[in-house]
Amino acid sequence: MRNSTYFLPTLKETPSEAQIASHRLMLRAGMVRQSAAGIYSWLPLGLRVLNKVADIVRDEQRLAGAQELLMPTIQPAELWKESGRYDDYGKEMLRITDRHAREMLYGPTNEELITALFRDSVKSFKALPKILFHVQWKFRDEVRPRFGVMRGREFLMKDGYSFDIDAEAARRSYNRMFISYMRTFSRLGLKAIPMRADTGPIGGDLSHEFHILAETGESEVFVHKDFIDLDWSRRQVDYDADLQELVDELTGKYAVTGEKRDRAVEARLGDQLVSARGIEVGHIFYFGAKYSRAMNAVVSSPNGEVPVEMGSYGIGVSRLVGALIEANHDAAGIIWPEPVAPFQFGLINLKKGDPACDDVSEQLYAALGSEVLYDDRDERAGVKFAEMDLIGLPWQIAVGPKGLAAGIVEVKRRAGGQRSEMTLEAVLNRFAGPQAR
Ligand code: ATP
Ligand code: MG
Repeated sequence: MRNSTYFLPTLKETPSEAQIASHRLMLRAGMVRQSAAGIYSWLPLGLRVLNKVADIVRDEQRLAGAQELLMPTIQPAELWKESGRYDDYGKEMLRITDRHAREMLYGPTNEELITALFRDSVKSFKALPKILFHVQWKFRDEVRPRFGVMRGREFLMKDGYSFDIDAEAARRSYNRMFISYMRTFSRLGLKAIPMRADTGPIGGDLSHEFHILAETGESEVFVHKDFIDLDWSRRQVDYDADLQELVDELTGKYAVTGEKRDRAVEARLGDQLVSARGIEVGHIFYFGAKYSRAMNAVVSSPNGEVPVEMGSYGIGVSRLVGALIEANHDAAGIIWPEPVAPFQFGLINLKKGDPACDDVSEQLYAALGSEVLYDDRDERAGVKFAEMDLIGLPWQIAVGPKGLAAGIVEVKRRAGGQRSEMTLEAVLNRFAGPQAR
């Protein structure tokens, strides 16, 4: 992509409405723009990140055996009347009336819709187990939307739902999703801690939230200090094996959100207890037959007709973009981890119009393909460097007349800031050759 034609409206000034780094940087880097309180447009740079995050989430869902579908954002109120949640959900639900005076709503979550889908399509236990998920926009009319995409009213969620014949099988699905969440966050370069949690309006009796520790997190969390060094990046998982031991290992140590504190346990932990703030990036629930019984989602089994056992599993995809920035930035801007960076390379032509600079820049631009943002504008070098630091691409490659006279271009790693001088050939081998990355 050429910067001269890219829709990348960066801001030099810090927007006054933004209280936390990620919100500030997403606005300044031209990733999002607010259209109404808690409702955002994703601009091209932001959308590239959102899509990369969503694709990693999808990939890990598939590896864990979940199948993707796509349900609508608008749902009929009837289904929510069947489950009894139409009234319970209260003002957070955006209620809509269509031209025929039918009550509709913008989905805040999808337990009812998927239970109805399942009920109308599956009749026998032989079709079980099933885990279905989608990545879809949700609307919740939050009292206090804030912190940009972290607490929006409209936000993108991955929500998945499991269907099993009995509690034991449902527990296996829960464990699969539990482990897939550990892998997903770790692949995104984030350290997520699973915490015992309340089930809230979803209901049920087994539930874990996954939190990223960050000073700007909205939740108070209390965790055993061993979680601070937890590293899942090299863990291999066999989804066909019994995952209970692995889940027990992860849940054996104390880690809770504020509502679930146990003072007696905390007193025993002494200085092994860490109190911190967390960003909730995922939440999983096992709620058994809560919806299937209310909505008559039953399957035939050797023991007669039984309501199907269910769980639901959410990841805040758009919130994750904010959480990633909270975890990866400095005074100059964002520092994207490679797996989610909007582009891997920022190519800077320091003297547009200089034939040698233009020529080498064009060669690099062609070789680096779809993962390069080429700053080909007629701007001062300082402006270009500052903007590259702000948008935070992992690698900056600067092409200037002085360097070229000595046969080199300058390569900077955004994380850490190390610079090295490399020949054009070395850059091409390193980043565009057959062994690149
Ligand atoms: P919170 O406690 O932060 O309000 P929640 O418990 O109501 O979230 P869930 O129903 O568990 O949310 O939704 C699953 C995931 O969706 C959450 O773990 C979070 O990552 C994300 N999410 C929930 N509400 C929002 C929001 N208003 N804006 C962005 N992401 C959200
Ligand atoms: Mg939650």
